[in-house]
Amino acid sequence: MPSPGCPGTAKRKEVSGIVETRTPSAEIVQEVKEAGGYAYRLCYQCGKCDAVCPWNRVRSFSIRKTIREAAFGLTEIESDDLWRCTTCGRCPEKCPRGVDQIELGVALRRLASNYDVFAASANAIRTVKGSLAAEGNPLSEDRAKRGGWADGLPVKPFAEGMEILFFGCCYLSYDPRLKKVARASADILNKAGVDFGTLGTRESCCGESIRKTGAEKLFKDLARENIKAFIDRGVKKIVVSSPHCYEAFKNEYAEFMVNFEVLHMSQYVLGLIKEGRLKITGGYRKKVTYHDPCYLGRHNGVYDDPREVLRSIPDLTLSEMADSRRNSLCCGGGGGRVWMETRKGERFSDLRLKQALDIKAEVLVTACPYCITMFEDSRANLEGENRLEIRDITEVVQEVI
Ligand code: SF4
Ligand code: SF4
Repeated sequence: MPSPGCPGTAKRKEVSGIVETRTPSAEIVQEVKEAGGYAYRLCYQCGKCDAVCPWNRVRSFSIRKTIREAAFGLTEIESDDLWRCTTCGRCPEKCPRGVDQIELGVALRRLASNYDVFAASANAIRTVKGSLAAEGNPLSEDRAKRGGWADGLPVKPFAEGMEILFFGCCYLSYDPRLKKVARASADILNKAGVDFGTLGTRESCCGESIRKTGAEKLFKDLARENIKAFIDRGVKKIVVSSPHCYEAFKNEYAEFMVNFEVLHMSQYVLGLIKEGRLKITGGYRKKVTYHDPCYLGRHNGVYDDPREVLRSIPDLTLSEMADSRRNSLCCGGGGGRVWMETRKGERFSDLRLKQALDIKAEVLVTACPYCITMFEDSRANLEGENRLEIRDITEVVQEVI
């Protein structure tokens, strides 16, 4: 239950999409102001954001209305709608008035989170936060077991002077499906003769997604732990498997005045192929389609490198789905949604699998642990599921080297 005095609890009624209330919250107004409030006042309610929002393919949801309410301090912080945005990045690109809808949405979640108010669908965030604070991962796993994915493989602890730090992320460290991606990555690096290491138990969650749920202090604590570990070990170049780690290390950790060279695994693998360090010796006689993860594509502009890796594999046929590259359809896992409840019939990943099947793809390849998690969930519920395989790009490369 919200605390007494918690904002957004005033009685109000909605008439023709306009919320009427007599008690705007000063805290919401202040929070919105700090998040660049003037820009929200510029919103002229054109609805171009709603037109591209993937939610409107599965149910009605209006970020336009959220902005309207927030700009006037009328947000109801107990609302499920506060937790819907996956931060997919589609709507900010479309706004003619320069409104950053994601920044506003995160500011409102920050406010709700400070009051410990979570809609039922977002309740799991409390447990996730506890696990991140105690063990450095969102999965309630033991920090001591973080390096277990590499058991039996020639993977060393990172030492100063090594070529790269391989940073596998929480899901690759603990999730049974995604450990296969971590092991494929290590296999590729070893076959290419890369001198690499990992941080093992000194590795903490990058914090990108928990930040998007409004947990700003927790993000900063995690970021400081990682930055300290990087500096203590003399890390200069980091190769990551998750686009969320990529976003955090490359863009968000810059706020701490540090600057590491960061590459996504798909970019690094392409470099290894081009330099002749990684030899492709086999073929992949399958029809493949590539899904652009939001935080690799739209947020960071990496569209071509993964496709170039796939095109360099003999016999592989690459086809594009209906929504690709800049228009890629979000898997539904960003912005902390990977930890939240999404009702059956409202999952974007179901639509994405259908798009892959529509072009008769046999393999849906991506480059993000959240996308794989969401797609594997959808695949398990799909009729004729065996017709479509879900693969990380490293798993495809591993098969042909
Ligand atoms: S696209 Fe921009 S101006 Fe138009 S409704 Fe959305 S936020 Fe407002
Ligand atoms: S960022 Fe994506 S999910 Fe969030 S409101 Fe915009 S279009 Fe919708």
